[in-house]
Amino acid sequence: MLALPADDTRHPAQFVFDLGTLGGPPGRLAFVISGAAPWVAAGRDAIAAATQAQTLSAWPGQAWAKSLTVRQVLIEKRATFRCTPGLARPAARLATGLWGAGDFIEGPYPATLEGAVRSGLQAADGVIADA
Ligand SMILES: Cc1cc2nc3c(=O)[nH]c(=O)nc-3n(C[C@H](O)[C@H](O)[C@H](O)COP(=O)(O)OP(=O)(O)OC[C@H]3O[C@@H](n4cnc5c(N)ncnc54)[C@H](O)[C@@H]3O)c2cc1C
Repeated sequence: MLALPADDTRHPAQFVFDLGTLGGPPGRLAFVISGAAPWVAAGRDAIAAATQAQTLSAWPGQAWAKSLTVRQVLIEKRATFRCTPGLARPAARLATGLWGAGDFIEGPYPATLEGAVRSGLQAADGVIADA
């Protein structure tokens, strides 16, 4: 995984994953675009073209970058929950002897890795305390 310089007008992706090194098909890359409202508005074709241009700009002169083709543009508007005031999230203790962990469990963070990790630690502590 590499972080990429990104902006709202020319370079959409903040991260790129080499799926081949993660057990996926060799030569397939996955570009991640977060906070993508301007790009979603621009449309799939614009996203594909800008991501290809970004790749060429990040790896100038690389043959693989020139031959890259876009297989799919996925738009997931609910990939994370919207952390609005008053949002009710489930408590970690879901039932007697049953603990939940994840970013949507009640806690001080919005949908973040930090929130998910803290929630996991809280659940583990709860299980140990119950035992
Ligand atoms: C595009 C994007 C960019 C992000 N960028 C950041 C960032 O920069 N910094 C940051 O802190 N957070 C970021 N986040 C948020 C962060 O990824 C999440 O908050 C975090 O991954 C939540 O962790 P989790 O363990 O709760 O859930 P997940 O990471 O979603 O894990 C849940 C797992 O459960 C599996 N699963 C689901 N249903 C089932 C089932 N029925 N049976 C078996 N397995 C199942 C899923 O496949 C998944 O592997 C980003 C999220 C997205 C989508």
